[in-house]
Amino acid sequence: MTETLEAPAQLKQIDHWIGGRAVAGTSGRSGAVYNPATGRQTGEVDFATEAEVDAAVQAAKQAFVEWRTMSLAKRADLFFRIRELINERKEEVARLLVAEHGKVLSDALGEVTRGLEVIEYCCGLPTLLKSEYSEQVSTGIDVYSIRQPLGVVAGITPFNFPAMVPMWMWAPAIACGNTFVLKPSEKDPSASVWTAELLKEAGLPDGVFNVVHGDKVAVDAVLDHPDIAAVSFVGSTPIAKYVYETATAKGKRCQALGGAKNHMIVLPDADVDMAADAAVSAAYGSAGERCMAISQVVAVGHVADELIDAIKARIPKVKVGDGLDPSSEMGPLVTKEHRDRVASYVENAPGEGAKVLVDGREGAPGEGFFLKPSLLDDVKPGMKAYEDEIFGPVLGVTRVDTYDEAVRLINENPYGNGTAIFTRDGGVARQFQFDVQAGMVGINVPIPVPVAYYSFGGWKASLFGDRHVYGPEGIEFYTRGKVVTSRWPDPATSKVDLGFPQTR
Ligand code: NAD
Repeated sequence: MTETLEAPAQLKQIDHWIGGRAVAGTSGRSGAVYNPATGRQTGEVDFATEAEVDAAVQAAKQAFVEWRTMSLAKRADLFFRIRELINERKEEVARLLVAEHGKVLSDALGEVTRGLEVIEYCCGLPTLLKSEYSEQVSTGIDVYSIRQPLGVVAGITPFNFPAMVPMWMWAPAIACGNTFVLKPSEKDPSASVWTAELLKEAGLPDGVFNVVHGDKVAVDAVLDHPDIAAVSFVGSTPIAKYVYETATAKGKRCQALGGAKNHMIVLPDADVDMAADAAVSAAYGSAGERCMAISQVVAVGHVADELIDAIKARIPKVKVGDGLDPSSEMGPLVTKEHRDRVASYVENAPGEGAKVLVDGREGAPGEGFFLKPSLLDDVKPGMKAYEDEIFGPVLGVTRVDTYDEAVRLINENPYGNGTAIFTRDGGVARQFQFDVQAGMVGINVPIPVPVAYYSFGGWKASLFGDRHVYGPEGIEFYTRGKVVTSRWPDPATSKVDLGFPQTR
């Protein structure tokens, strides 16, 4: 049976979450939240003032005093409870994602499950925070390192993973003993408030996790705040660059992940059906609104025609519809403006010299912000459809003659998030892993998002900063090192010595 979301009689009011409770906004400024499948407004989210951001920071600052003293054993217990609660109730949050983002329910559940893996990793926090100890570095002297939390840290997140990307940040940050202020996307903010309520239910002390909604005003208040020690950002490249430059100029630690243009190379020896399945899945899943989506196939040599035929044959079978309809495989785009922007690349492609092989503007469901999958051929550097991150269900194909040309395209691209190669030749695949300038590489894997015990991040304009998110680099990002040199000599042997301390 197909479920559909009815338009609510009243708009849902989405509040901030500060110091363990919902707090209504006072700015008088707010944003509309839509159900992308119907195109109707369903909610209204408060936009924070500088003072409201400050209130969240003060709540986090106060909570930090106690939180950092909680034993690792108790903190780990709490993480196990959080893991269990989210696992039990993941369908609730998945439905919120469908209602505000538009992705299909199975994909929303997949998002929550991948986020949960980061929480599971954090359940091992006592091990993750273990340090090193060197006994007898000099006679009677030992040296050891410890990692301590930074204090209040903040996360600013994009619309496309409203539950998972915040989990990449708050879970390791809190596990390491920091307290957290989240500024989620204003387009689909409900998952963050749901998370706050769940964390409270799990027993997280008030003030450890706070949410302030908003736009540039709230982001700037976070970047300017003297009591925020570090900022994690995920979003588009221009804003990532701005956040990184502003935060670091204010003396904050910052990791800012930006946009992407992920190329998938298909070599002449690849299994064409497998490559076509992968390209269709990775280009059109979540309507192409994934930073790891494949947006550009690079077909090497004679494989191009056969590959394009195989992709074209699969596209009409992709079922586009309301995310709550279990038969839907691809939902709408997040807003009307974004849908229209994505459609403009298809509109303008012929004028730039590309061919529109499948036009997703045709036959898209009437209501809501839908587009069907589009396929462009002969897309080349210099065209907007090649240069821009389209962030929608538009797959471009570039034809090249050699492997070297294919790799050069990727290495000359300003982005370096994910990339993939499809081949049966292990030697070429290994060479690709060695040559390619991107942070996440798939070998016959189109969306190589690292598991939670590795770290996620791109190169070049896809990441500003020197630490990737979650995994071991996440733990490093949210802690700072201290090295202790210690001795317990007999006071009777003590004497004044103005020389520089020696170990020999
Ligand atoms: P966005 O950059 O528009 O917004 C991200 C965050 O920045 C939001 O919280 C938003 O409120 C805030 N923001 C927007 N404009 C701002 C401004 N002028 N000043 C200060 N803050 C501002 O990104 P989006 O549209 O929400 O998300 C899609 C983008 O995110 C894509 O480019 C995608 O590739 C990228 N993304 C990257 C990764 C990654 O891991 N590299 C992951 C997910 C999404």
